[in-house]
Amino acid sequence: MKTKHTSFEIRPRGDFSLEEGANFIGAWHRAPSEGGEPEGHLHLAFLTDGDWTPVGVCLKQDAAGRVLGTIHGDSPKSAVVRQVERILSLDIDGTGWADVARRDPVVSRLQQMFPGFRPVNWSNAYEAAAWCIISSRISMRQGEGVKERMSRELGQRIDIHGHALWTFPGPAQLVQLEKFAGLFGRKVEYLNALGRAALSGDMDTETLRQMPRRVRVPACSSAGTQRGERASDLGAAPDGRAANRIWPLARP
Ligand SMILES: [Zn+2]
Repeated sequence: MKTKHTSFEIRPRGDFSLEEGANFIGAWHRAPSEGGEPEGHLHLAFLTDGDWTPVGVCLKQDAAGRVLGTIHGDSPKSAVVRQVERILSLDIDGTGWADVARRDPVVSRLQQMFPGFRPVNWSNAYEAAAWCIISSRISMRQGEGVKERMSRELGQRIDIHGHALWTFPGPAQLVQLEKFAGLFGRKVEYLNALGRAALSGDMDTETLRQMPRRVRVPACSSAGTQRGERASDLGAAPDGRAANRIWPLARP
């Protein structure tokens, strides 16, 4: 895949630790730096909002707290940055969060346990919904295995300076899916419908986020995703580690 590398910078409003977020999804990646010392990276591969273009990002954080990103792929920078901000919960002004600890000892302890942590969300509502379907009635570990195989076999490989990642298959692939190992019952049929809904524009993440919660929450009943929805509207990445962690930053 031909890639362009475009850089960007995000200045978090309030405390933020990229490493805490990356560790939460088991994705903190050590890579050599120019000075020879390994430094921490978070690499993400996802489909862009709207046109489902596969894209990868390499994210680092400097000593001043700024998130420094590089885009691997051909997508408009502003749209990718906006999506990265949403994935990392950096679209939220967290400047008042530190003050909560002064009023609430439980929050204070959580902030000390997870300094600068913010939930890491699914890349979009489409992928969150796919996870709901894939992971229902099986363990999260099994669900992760199926989703990983789907990504490798049907998704797009993204190379981020030597680190290979795969995006989840796009809606066009889901529409054509006839069977896949590990998907039983009506899961393939539901994924076909999800693909059609996405292609017809019914899975626009920003539109769905603006809908009342009572409409959104019943859309998914898997235990893992309900945890995610409490944390950040559209489902934080619910992996095996995440299931046992406490969500210190829940949106109202
Ligand atoms: Zn990197």
